[in-house]
Amino acid sequence: MTNTDTTSSSDLPHVRSIIDGMAVDHQQWFAVVDPATGAAIATVGRSDAAVVDAAVAAARRAYDNGPWPSMAPKERARVLRRLAELILANRDDLATLESRDTGKPLSQARTDVDVSARYFEFYSGAIEALHGDTIPAIPGTFAYTLREPLGVTAHIEPWNYPLQIGCRTVAPSLAMGNCCVLKPAEEAPLSLVRLAELALEAAIPPGVLNVVTGFGAEAGAALASHPGIDHLSFTGSVEVGAIVAAAAAANVKPVTLELGGKSPNIVMPDADLDRAIPIIARSVLQNAGQTCSAGSRLLVHHSVHDAVVDGIEAYFAAARVGRGLDDPDLGPLISLKQLEHVEASVRDGLGTASLRYGGRRAAVVDHAGGFFFEPTLIDDVDPASALAQAEIFGPVVVVCAFEDEAEAITLANGTPYGLIAAVWTSDVSRAHRMAAKLRCGQVYINGYGAGGGVELPFGGVKQSGYGREKGADALLAFSQTKMVAVNVGTA
Ligand code: NAD
Repeated sequence: MTNTDTTSSSDLPHVRSIIDGMAVDHQQWFAVVDPATGAAIATVGRSDAAVVDAAVAAARRAYDNGPWPSMAPKERARVLRRLAELILANRDDLATLESRDTGKPLSQARTDVDVSARYFEFYSGAIEALHGDTIPAIPGTFAYTLREPLGVTAHIEPWNYPLQIGCRTVAPSLAMGNCCVLKPAEEAPLSLVRLAELALEAAIPPGVLNVVTGFGAEAGAALASHPGIDHLSFTGSVEVGAIVAAAAAANVKPVTLELGGKSPNIVMPDADLDRAIPIIARSVLQNAGQTCSAGSRLLVHHSVHDAVVDGIEAYFAAARVGRGLDDPDLGPLISLKQLEHVEASVRDGLGTASLRYGGRRAAVVDHAGGFFFEPTLIDDVDPASALAQAEIFGPVVVVCAFEDEAEAITLANGTPYGLIAAVWTSDVSRAHRMAAKLRCGQVYINGYGAGGGVELPFGGVKQSGYGREKGADALLAFSQTKMVAVNVGTA
């Protein structure tokens, strides 16, 4: 069965969109495959514009006539906490589903489930503390603000962290009182359909969280251009981000774009290398490098270059590649297309750079059909080359050496992206000085990421996107301010 089959004749589990609390009776279907074997694991409903219309209409009804937007925050919070508990109660099943669908190592999938639950916990607490302001600026006028939901929010998701990123965007939106239509990526839709089922079990009313499965150019395009949505949250590639933002702009709808990155680890001469090396290596091996914030560039001071590169090479050489369910250090890439893209990026980009480790498909015993690629370390990379500039989205790190702090900043800022950066140094003044000069949305000092970072605002600058998710910022993104002014006169 290929990804475009339109019948539902297979014996595989049938996974359907969920609209208004019910599974959709799809007319067309497609297969999703296990990236470790290339074999189909589920038959999934293929939504067209009519199915998307039905989902937007259900969300609109739930918003206009249902209890969700007008519930007291503490009531909504209670329901969202119940969903967090259900996610954790189903941790093993969800992690296994996610690992099978995406290929990611099982322990990373378990972390994804924990972080997903944490989004609902965090926003259930945060929503109770959100309120408007009073503005005592104008004599005779009592002015105040109300923080209101937007209405129907649309969410288009990528395949790399389906459950985690899905929860990242719907949790704050639901907490604010919005009603959602979510479209998972066609490569890995299974965990988000399960999320919609768990949401119903948690007593989130039907129509409040709708999930439409299907292809980007079909269901995704219909959702992004739908006049009935009030906001679009998109996580994915720069290319598609620009398309969906233009579609939403035609209806004057606001958009949050979380796009790609080419994020640097910057190693200064005074860094604690023993601590830095394994974290830097993991920052690009996690999820086989298919992470928007992967540490895919290593900028290293020439005085510690050899020690750092040797250390990363040793880490890569010891990394186990295998099927996600066997919990290796890195699993397969998501698809044959992605494998071919990573392979071509390395092969065609090498030029004068030196391949220190990997650079080819990995052979995994009993999994000849899987999409495995070796951890790959490339040294002496020209900072202007495609290898150093373009997002590869695989387990590939490129190394550039620098002479001083100013050159490090120039290199770090010298790509079209600006998502995250890490500085490794034991000089606290230098750390803050560099953090201020880095053009990106998040900076880590002597670390990379923060265990999911649910509480920390996240998003990009330049082609990494705009708007912020995570943390309290996301509640602002999924709400709007209304000002009320009362003429109270003067005594
Ligand atoms: P993608 O852009 O191909 O697809 C993302 C989503 O958009 C999918 O659901 C897809 O079906 C949909 N889509 C595709 N074409 C569409 C269209 N014409 N109209 C509407 N929707 C459409 O991205 P991907 O391959 O799934 O994910 C990889 C990319 O996502 C990488 O560039 C990565 O950096 C980025 N990403 C960013 C973040 C972040 O938070 N910044 C997180 C994860 C992934």
